[in-house]
Amino acid sequence: MSKQRIVWAAVVALAFTGVVLVSWPRAEDVPMPVVQPVNPDYFISDCLVEPIKKEIRRLSDGREAECYVITTKSVPTDHPIGPWAPKHVTDGEDKGGIWIKDGHVYNVSGEFVAHLDELYDDPQWNLVREDGSIRVTDTKEAFDLAARPNVDPRYNNYAVECPVDVVEWKSNYNVYIIPVNPVYRSKATDFHRVGNGHGPVGVAFNGVKYDPPAPIHMIIKAHTIAPFDHSGGHVNPHAGYHYHAATGNTKEIEQTDGHAPLIGYALDGFGIYAHLDIDGKKPIDLDECSGHFDNIRGYHYHASAAGDNQIIGAFRGIAGSASVVEPK
Ligand SMILES: [Zn+2]
Ligand SMILES: [Zn+2]
Repeated sequence: MSKQRIVWAAVVALAFTGVVLVSWPRAEDVPMPVVQPVNPDYFISDCLVEPIKKEIRRLSDGREAECYVITTKSVPTDHPIGPWAPKHVTDGEDKGGIWIKDGHVYNVSGEFVAHLDELYDDPQWNLVREDGSIRVTDTKEAFDLAARPNVDPRYNNYAVECPVDVVEWKSNYNVYIIPVNPVYRSKATDFHRVGNGHGPVGVAFNGVKYDPPAPIHMIIKAHTIAPFDHSGGHVNPHAGYHYHAATGNTKEIEQTDGHAPLIGYALDGFGIYAHLDIDGKKPIDLDECSGHFDNIRGYHYHASAAGDNQIIGAFRGIAGSASVVEPK
């Protein structure tokens, strides 16, 4: 290419970039008539590693803001954890957790596991051995090989669960940086654009994280299931116990007007409320983030139904951050 042509190509490329930048709508802060600040007193003190601190921290868009620094253990104190997978085909619903498909919540009994071939209309599902026992990852090594996108072929057709005695997840801490006053933005932000893209999206009052949707399409590709317990949670050895569904088992803050109770905060500081109000009615006019506005709570989210494999859809505000740290 001649020198002139290179210059000409550069000019065209620059002009094009300019047009794209000008026409791309940027997210802006939108002042709201009502803003509910985060209330740190709602967190269960037994679940905190240290008292909640208020500090100036950097948010995910680079700005600095007054934030709460909340350091918690991965272990809830307001409900038991597990069970996840039944161990034998004769085990009842009390021996397993839940699994979700197309908006439905199923109790994971031995019978349910034995009929996964029918549920997914695929004869290759076969988690039950000849003696009636169910293939379950019962060591950390087995869990590590099965709980990854490219499941080790030895662990195809397994129920995947982290053995409860794995020490790492119980000892690691979760640190959440959440802005005190949430800021409403004109555009939503996808979870994968924040931090490492793997969440969490928020935190319950017991210090357990609300995670983005579980990658169910990847999990079932290897004919595995990774059941949640009846509280909507399961364990990852490093990041610990976390929720993919809100099922009403964690601490709730009742609302005096019959609105659904508050069940935690998103990383952007907006409150997350339960799916249903006290009359069992669903929220209306939710945006793509699963949130809406009212004059008491300001903008806030509603957790999706347990079968939907999402707590909230995206961030409406500017997220802080979250990390897992090993205790000093
Ligand atoms: Zn998970
Ligand atoms: Zn609402």
